[in-house]
Amino acid sequence: MKEENYLKQELYDLIKKDNSIFEFIQESSLDGIWYWDLQNPEDEWMSPKFWKVLGYDPSSMEHKSSQWQDIIFEEDLKIATENFNKHLEDPNHEYDQIVRYKHKNGSTVWIRCRGMAIRDENGKAIRMLGAHNDLTVIMELRKKLDEKKDIEDANKKLYKKAYEDYLTKLLNRRGFTKNAKYVIELAKRDETSLSLALLDLDFFKKINDTYGHAQGDELLKAVSDIFLDTCRGSDILARYGGEEFIVLMPQTGKEEAIIAIERIRLYIQNHEIGKIKNQTISCGLTTFKPSKQINTQEFLDNMIKDADEALYYVKNNGRNSVKHFSDLIRVKNT
Ligand code: GH3
Ligand code: MG
Ligand code: MG
Repeated sequence: MKEENYLKQELYDLIKKDNSIFEFIQESSLDGIWYWDLQNPEDEWMSPKFWKVLGYDPSSMEHKSSQWQDIIFEEDLKIATENFNKHLEDPNHEYDQIVRYKHKNGSTVWIRCRGMAIRDENGKAIRMLGAHNDLTVIMELRKKLDEKKDIEDANKKLYKKAYEDYLTKLLNRRGFTKNAKYVIELAKRDETSLSLALLDLDFFKKINDTYGHAQGDELLKAVSDIFLDTCRGSDILARYGGEEFIVLMPQTGKEEAIIAIERIRLYIQNHEIGKIKNQTISCGLTTFKPSKQINTQEFLDNMIKDADEALYYVKNNGRNSVKHFSDLIRVKNT
C-alpha cells in the first residue's frame, strides 16, 4: 500500500492539537459547518460562516436547529429530511442535496448541503456533521442561461411562423422575399446572373374536386419535397401561393436554368405521387444579371413579373412545359 504523505499526517496531528487550524479550514474552504446532536435534536452548533452566508450576524443567532428550519424553503426541507432518514438507515445513501434558504434581505441562497452521521459503537447515529457550499452565483447564472434559451426558442418559433409555410414547411412568400433580397445583393456585388422560376400545378382544382381537399394537401406536400430534393442547396425555394411555387437560382444562366426546371417538370410528370398519376406543372422562367445600382426590390418585382408572364403563356398554350421569358419576347415579336 502506498505510504501516507508525511504532510497529511502532520496536518491531521496539527488539527487535533491546534484549534486555529480547524478554524482556518472551516472559514476558508466552506460556507458553513454544522454539527447536530441527534439525541437532543434542538441542539445544533453552526459555524459563524453558516450565518454570514445567509446574511445574519452569527452572534445574534442561537445554536438551535429551529433557527435554520425557519428560513429553509419548505419543499427543500422535505427533500433534505427524506435524504436524512435514508442516510440514517443506510450510511451508503449519501446525504447530499441542493437546498434554498431565504437570505435576510429576502433573496434566495442556493446551498449544497452535505452531511455524515456519526454513529456509536452499536451503529446508532448520535450526531450529524454537515458542510455547506454556497452555489448561488452558479445557480443564478444557470437561470439566466435558461431564460436566454427560452427567449431564443420563442424567437425561433416566431421566425418560423412569420417565414415558413405551415403546410409544406417551405419558405412562405415573406420568407422568400427576405432570402431572395439577400441573394440578389450578392449577385449585384459579384455581377453574376440569377434565374427565377414560377412553377404552377396544372388543373389542381380537379385534384381537390376528385380526391378531396386533404388529398390535395398531401399532393402539395409531396410535390414540395420533390422540389426541395431536386433544387440545389443554394436555390431559394418557396411556396408562393396556393399551388404555385417559386425558385430563385443564384449564379445560374438561362440554359442552365431551363435544364434544371425542365428536369423538375419531367420528374413530376413521370412519377406517381400518392394516388396521383401524371400530375403536370407549368413553369415560367426568367434570367437576369443585376447591375450594382439597381434597386433590389424593384429588380425582384420585375423578375417575378416576367416569370409570371412566361407562366401565363404556358397556361394558355397547352400547359405542362417550361417557357423562358426571353423566348416569349421573340414569340411575341414574330
Ligand atoms: P391551372 O392549370 O390553370 O393552374 O388550374 P388550377 O386548377 O391549378 O388553378 P386554379 O387557380 O383555378 O385553382 C387552384 C386551386 O388550388 C384552387 C384551390 O382550391 C387549390 N388550392 C389552393 N391552395 C390550396 C391548399 O392549400 N390545399 C389544397 N388542397 N388546395 C389548394
Ligand atoms: Mg394551377
Ligand atoms: Mg395557380
